[in-house]
Amino acid sequence: MVPQRSEHQEVRLHGIGVSSGIVIGRAFVLYGDLIKVERRILRKDQVEAEVEKLVRAIERTREELQVFRTETAQRLGEKDAQIFDVHQMLLQDEMVLSEIIHRIRSERVNADHVITEILSKYEASFDGAEDEYFRARAADLRDIKQRVIRHIQGKEETGLAQISEPVVLIARDLSPSDTINLDRSKVLGFVTELGSRTSHAAILARSLKVPSIVGLVDVCHQVFSNDPVILDGRNGVLIINPSSETLTLFKRMQRGFTRVESNLARVKKLAARTKDGKDIALSANIEFFEEIGTALDYGAHGVGLYRTEYLYMTRSELPSEEEQVQEYSRIIRAMNGAPVTIRTFDIGGDKAQRFFSIPPEANPFLGFRGVRLYEHNEIVFLTQLRAILRASVHGPVRIMFPMIACVEEMRHCKSVLVKAGEQLQREGLAFCADIPVGAMIEVPSAAVTADLIAQESDFLSIGTNDLIQYTLAVDRGNKFVAYLYRNFDPAVLRLIREIIQKGHEQCVWVGMCGEMASDPFATMVLIGLGLDEFSVSPVSLLMIKDIIRRVEYPECENLANAALNFDAAVGVENYLLDVMNRKFKDLLVCDAGIA
Ligand code: PEP
Ligand code: MG
Repeated sequence: MVPQRSEHQEVRLHGIGVSSGIVIGRAFVLYGDLIKVERRILRKDQVEAEVEKLVRAIERTREELQVFRTETAQRLGEKDAQIFDVHQMLLQDEMVLSEIIHRIRSERVNADHVITEILSKYEASFDGAEDEYFRARAADLRDIKQRVIRHIQGKEETGLAQISEPVVLIARDLSPSDTINLDRSKVLGFVTELGSRTSHAAILARSLKVPSIVGLVDVCHQVFSNDPVILDGRNGVLIINPSSETLTLFKRMQRGFTRVESNLARVKKLAARTKDGKDIALSANIEFFEEIGTALDYGAHGVGLYRTEYLYMTRSELPSEEEQVQEYSRIIRAMNGAPVTIRTFDIGGDKAQRFFSIPPEANPFLGFRGVRLYEHNEIVFLTQLRAILRASVHGPVRIMFPMIACVEEMRHCKSVLVKAGEQLQREGLAFCADIPVGAMIEVPSAAVTADLIAQESDFLSIGTNDLIQYTLAVDRGNKFVAYLYRNFDPAVLRLIREIIQKGHEQCVWVGMCGEMASDPFATMVLIGLGLDEFSVSPVSLLMIKDIIRRVEYPECENLANAALNFDAAVGVENYLLDVMNRKFKDLLVCDAGIA
């Protein structure tokens, strides 16, 4: 396909930003998929030698993957290394192997051709799957296919090895082995057509801190090697042939990021305490074990939200109780005595699911989601609660339920938790008996009855991502109505104030784990409203901590009162921009906003 653009026109493409950072450089388009395979008819006496060649190639691939596995385990740990076990399993599939050998013998054709035909068939069916897990397996299969064929043809690895100077890598897909082997001095960042936030390459990119974008449809056909590009991994934007104004702006932002980042490093080990001595619990939101390193390095008080649904979304089978015990335990142990808030699975809405029979819904966000699934899938819920309880012997844990809309749901969840505890006790399995239990307040009905829900809870955590969408009736993933989705809408601010007040009246602490807690413009307002815990994405920890450390509680109270006096979001936003410009100019990356 020929790119549809004139040579020097600036083009902006949008994908899924999976690892932040701004990179400015030249593109290198990787055509790794284009290994040439021709069909050859073999002489009768060549057939067995061809089978031998295949077996040797598979053996070499296996050895190669074993080396990657060992290197990955050393560099990133055992969990990341297990990614290569999937490859090894695919390689050892006896059925596929005998199908390949049978065709080499019966049709007398070359091994690489047969492999291409057979594996491409499997790959296409994985690729077309609705489920993210199976789509990710297509990438693994593609990687194996390329490797085995390369060994059959006796070719050296090409593609990535050809990169001789720092580039922004553009590829249809990157396998885990490609990602792990990226030479950081040559690959500044990468963009792929395939992939999702939970694909292995994305997980590894975050671990390795390589700015990257995935899911950018057709990017390989829109960029040429050597094109000047800007990759904004935070917003998922790739700019091809940036104009000189864009380049100037992004260079300034890049310098700003670097400057702000190195300035903020000074607060890593310092407490999240206001100037007048009020301690704020500043915790991290995580989805994967790999994010804990940054959270700890940046001095997180604990994990304020561990989204467990990714455990269910990245597997072909429901995670077993044992598997969950292991995963939760290693996270709890890694946090070394700091509290870990485990949110029970929040599946449905936009979060794909495969294990629960949810009928097609006209409005999935208003349908079968979060806690609403639990009654109909009690065994799955009970299994998760048992696993969390068992893991709680390794350190302080809190349990939090998503999408609570009324007090009955909270009571139901707690009754299943009691049942899980009773079962474990009967079975003689150890667990911690007094785990704090909290409700996420992210549905307006829960917000206005927060006092009632607080009576059933040890803490409340405000999920603004959903609370805003449900309060303002704005789908959080719909770009056409995104302009209506505002943190500082008076309705949102009033609800937050009420939730905190009602929680405090019932003597329970109130945190926030929605993205608003990571918004530096909101920090002073939230402190002023009395928020007890901020749980933010690990990369936002230092910025929010720095702001906390530079303010006093009474000034935050005044500021929150002032913010609540505006009749529209725009008034609040302008007011806060003015405050930020006066108080935190050094944190502003450019005129457009803050880091
Ligand atoms: C929220 O809704 O604010 C939240 C933290 O939950 P999630 O983003 O996982 O829906
Ligand atoms: Mg939510």
